Amino acid sequence: MAAELSAIANAVQASATLSLKAEIGRIEKTYGVKVIDMTAGQPDIGPTPDVIEALVQGGKLYKYGPVPGEAGLRPLLAETVKKETGASFTSDQIIMTVGAKGGIDSVMRAILDPGDAVAILAPYWVTYPEVVAISGGKPVSVDPTPDLRPDIARIETAVRENPTKAILYSSPSNPTGVVYTREELDGIAAIARKFDVWLVADEIYREFAFDGKTAPSLFSADDLYEKAVLVDGPSKRFGIPGWRLGFVAGRLDLVKAIGRIQGHAANASRPIQAAVEVAYGSAQARQATARMVSRYQQNRDLVVEGLNSLEGIKCPTPAGAFYCFPDVSGLYGRTYEFDGSTNKIENSTDFRNFLLRKANVATVEGGPFGRDTHMRISLAISREDCAAALENIKKAVSELVS
Ligand code: PMP
Repeated sequence: MAAELSAIANAVQASATLSLKAEIGRIEKTYGVKVIDMTAGQPDIGPTPDVIEALVQGGKLYKYGPVPGEAGLRPLLAETVKKETGASFTSDQIIMTVGAKGGIDSVMRAILDPGDAVAILAPYWVTYPEVVAISGGKPVSVDPTPDLRPDIARIETAVRENPTKAILYSSPSNPTGVVYTREELDGIAAIARKFDVWLVADEIYREFAFDGKTAPSLFSADDLYEKAVLVDGPSKRFGIPGWRLGFVAGRLDLVKAIGRIQGHAANASRPIQAAVEVAYGSAQARQATARMVSRYQQNRDLVVEGLNSLEGIKCPTPAGAFYCFPDVSGLYGRTYEFDGSTNKIENSTDFRNFLLRKANVATVEGGPFGRDTHMRISLAISREDCAAALENIKKAVSELVS
């Protein structure tokens, strides 16, 4: 009998963060505790009132709209990208997608044939390997330098040694908070050019750069590579991930191909586009973003310092996004008591369980991001929760048995 589900469907891994939510609920219910949730991949603020109002008004757009996106929004995004990066995309070179996630999915559908490899720069967002595999591609993880930066020599080797169609990365990075330098971006672009592969840059955290700096954009290059593809969106900067809107900007033939695909698949909702058009032009929304980034920077300072004060944990200082990504492998091999049994920490999932059970702090294990020695900790929570989480973690770590 033929398999009932496709091989691709059977191979897709469930999201690590979703299964974690169920475990958080179980711990809270069973032990009557409150877990501090540092797993969030989203801001802790929502949209400003003017943007909400625009969404209500946008409800009048109840008929089908243009598949590539609303007539007013695409030129506004072309202008925004120009202002933020310097790159000149025409409105026709921009297409709205169902979240930035939907944008990456659409790009992969448009460029991959079965077996084509995509070089994914580790540590990577958990979705990247899955979304490549869903399109029949082969994800190839490329190890970083020891300080988790892109390793240019390794990227070149990976591209050369596999039937590579694209390179994919995010900067500022989820999960590390590393912000690629101009030189690193130019180095990656040079490899893409040399091997004539697409270069898909996920810049959804571009506005989340700390210490008053601007995150360098691939698209600010003097000599922009023509197969560079921008994935971006309003989810993070305006605190609207649930609205599910993103966009892709790239070479016209690619954007048109995505349009043909989305003509038969998921395309963006009109009321959301109407609201997002207001958001990109709103001074109120821009100020809310700036306040949020400054709060997350303060959280970063607190959390990084607190974690580094613990023996066995090494936490680099993230320069952007809203995560820190400490190496906790110095505590592997230690044990703790829970529910009458002794548990040994041997990998990032064990460490995540340890923090959940003994510190009542939820974080995401590094394994699915390509680093089983690390943990992803979200800074997109209140300062009080960050402080309380640190206290709990300090106490739990001090009680670990060697
Ligand atoms: N890219 C990265 C690197 C992300 O971290 C996320 C969200 N976690 C997304 C894309 C998805 O964005 P959206 O909600 O717009 O689909």
